[in-house]
Amino acid sequence: MKIAICPGSFDPITFGHLDIIKRASKLFDKVIVLVIVNPEKHCSFSPEERAEMISKVITDIPNAVVDIYDGLLIDYFKAHNATVIVKGLRAMTDFEYEFQMALVNRQLCPNADTLFLTTSAEYMYLSSSVVRQVAKFNGDISQFVPKQILNTIIERLYKKDTEE
Ligand code: ADP
Repeated sequence: MKIAICPGSFDPITFGHLDIIKRASKLFDKVIVLVIVNPEKHCSFSPEERAEMISKVITDIPNAVVDIYDGLLIDYFKAHNATVIVKGLRAMTDFEYEFQMALVNRQLCPNADTLFLTTSAEYMYLSSSVVRQVAKFNGDISQFVPKQILNTIIERLYKKDTEE
């Protein structure tokens, strides 16, 4: 069984992430969407909340599952007999960091290959931080994220801002 891991913060998941996950699901038998816990990154949603939002929007991708991992991606990769790490590339700005991470992972585990999928042009500008910024001011994020998670995002980010 060929298993792909799509790791990220997903704070929150966007149509850009979803596009990469869907395309990976056509290339591999199983896709694990992995919420990586990174204590150095301040996130608006807890890992459990991020995973819950992901599980709500991948229901129509039968071979995709979600998981949370607090540790080194490569250890998860080995423990789950994964085939490949799939990452999305939006622009050259993503490339340098992703290239470095891919090399580090191969150094730690020689058969851990990273596959880069180029973003779909319509999502090139889209990131979780764009969603957070627009949601903070109660802007229309319906073109950025699936409707199942719209309210969760607005309620958290908009309310938080007005309460402060
Ligand atoms: P973000 O930069 O949005 O916080 P994450 O850490 O959650 O991203 O990213 C997980 C993966 O998804 C990364 O490989 C990232 O490049 C990819 N990704 C995020 N947004 C998009 C997009 N709009 N198009 C393609 N890939 C994307």
